[in-house]
Amino acid sequence: MALSGIQIYKMLPQTNCKECGFPTCLAFAMKLAAKQVELSGCPYVSAESKAKLAESSAPPVRLITLKGIGIDVKAGNEVCLYRHEKTFYNKSGLFVRIKSSQTDIAAQVARADAYKVTYVGIDFTVDGFAVEADDPSKFAEAIKAVRAATKRPLILISSDPAVLSAGAAVLPGETPLLCGATSANWEAMAEVAKTAKAALAISGDSLDELADLTEKIKAKGVEDLVLAPGGKTMGGSLILATQIRRLALKNFRALGYPMLTMPGNAGSPERESLLAAQAITKYAGFVVLDKFSPELMYALLVLRENIYTDPQKPIQVTPGLFDINNPKPESPVLVTTNFSITYFSVANEVEGSGLPARLLVVDADGMSVLTAWAAGKFDAERIAKAVKAFGVEAKTNKKQIVIPGHVAVLSGELEEELPGWEIRVGPREAVDLPAFMKKAL
Ligand code: SF4
Repeated sequence: MALSGIQIYKMLPQTNCKECGFPTCLAFAMKLAAKQVELSGCPYVSAESKAKLAESSAPPVRLITLKGIGIDVKAGNEVCLYRHEKTFYNKSGLFVRIKSSQTDIAAQVARADAYKVTYVGIDFTVDGFAVEADDPSKFAEAIKAVRAATKRPLILISSDPAVLSAGAAVLPGETPLLCGATSANWEAMAEVAKTAKAALAISGDSLDELADLTEKIKAKGVEDLVLAPGGKTMGGSLILATQIRRLALKNFRALGYPMLTMPGNAGSPERESLLAAQAITKYAGFVVLDKFSPELMYALLVLRENIYTDPQKPIQVTPGLFDINNPKPESPVLVTTNFSITYFSVANEVEGSGLPARLLVVDADGMSVLTAWAAGKFDAERIAKAVKAFGVEAKTNKKQIVIPGHVAVLSGELEEELPGWEIRVGPREAVDLPAFMKKAL
C-alpha cells in the first residue's frame, strides 16, 4: 500500500544533509510519496527502512533511460492518467527507423540528426534512431554507420537474440533499447539484455502475456523493461495503452513500465501520423517513425510539447530588455509580458518588419497580457519596476514606452509611476505593431 509523505519521512534519517538534492528529508519524502524520485536518491536509508519503503516508493511507471554518447532519452516516472491531474514528466522519445539493408544510411541519419526547429524559444530535435535488422548480415555495419552520424540513443530491432547481441556489442558503454522479447525468445533475449546492460522491449498480444513476460524476465535479472503492446487498430492500441497505464497507476507492478509504439507498422503515412499523435497523447514512452519527415516531425513535436508542459506552469521567457533589429537610442520601447507565446508573437512581428525596437518583457508570472492584467500580475507598478530594473532609461533618449492596446487603462497610473515618461498605447494585436510603428512612432 502506498505510504504518505509523513509515513515515509519517519523512516528516513531526518538529518537534512541535502545529498538527495532536496533541502530536507521531508521534501524528499514528499517527492517519494508522489513517486517522482527513487529511494536510491538517499544513500543513508537503513536496510530495514529500505525494505519497507522499496515497494511503496517505486514509481508506478519505471524510469527507463536510454543512453547514447552524451545524450539520454528518458521515459517513465509518470504518476497520473490525465495530464490535468498533475503533469506528464518524460516526453515521448521520437525515433526514426533505419533499416540495415539501406544504402544511404549516413545521409538519412545525418539529415534527421541535423533537424532543429525553435518553437516558442524551445529547440526541438529528433530524439534517436531505431536500427532494424531487416538484413541481419548488415546489422552491425548499419549500427556503426548510424553511430558515426549521430550521438543520439539507439533502439535495435530484431527477433533474433544472436543478431541483437552482435548489434549491442557495437555500442559499448551505451544503453540501447533491444526490441524485442516475445513468448518465443524471452529467455535468450533476457540474457542478451543482461550482458549488454541494455533495456529490453517486450511484445505480447494481450496484457496477460505481457505481464507474464515481464515477471519472468525480471526474475532473470533484467529490470529495465519496455512494453510494446501493439494493437492492430487505433481503438485497439488506445485501449491497451490506457489499460496498461491505469493498471500501472494502481501499482500493478508487472505492467509498470513505459511503452514503445511503432506507428509506421500501420501501413500508410496517414495512419502513421494519426497513430503517432495518439501514442504521444496516450501514453507512449518511445515512438518509432518509419521515415524522417520534417513536416510530420514538427507537428508531432509541437503536439508533444503541448501535452508534456506542466498545465499549472505557463511556458515563460526570462523577463528583460531585448534588442530587435539593432535598435538605436531613438528606437521605440515596446512593453509586453513574459508568456512565451505573447513574447514570440510580438518579437516575431517586430523582427519581421525590419524596424528597430527594444522589447521590455515584464514578469507577469508567464501570463498573456489580458490574463495577467485581470489577475493583477501586469499593472503599472510592475511595468514601472521593470523599466527601472532593466535600465531602460539608459538605453533610450526618448523616455517613451508603448504599452499593449489591451491595457490602455493602465496609461494614467503608469504616468504617475513613471513621471516624465510618455506613455503611448499601441495596438491590441501583435500583428498590427509594424503598421503602428511606421505611422505613429
Ligand atoms: S539524502 Fe537522505 S538524509 Fe540526506 S536530506 Fe536527503 S533524505 Fe534526508
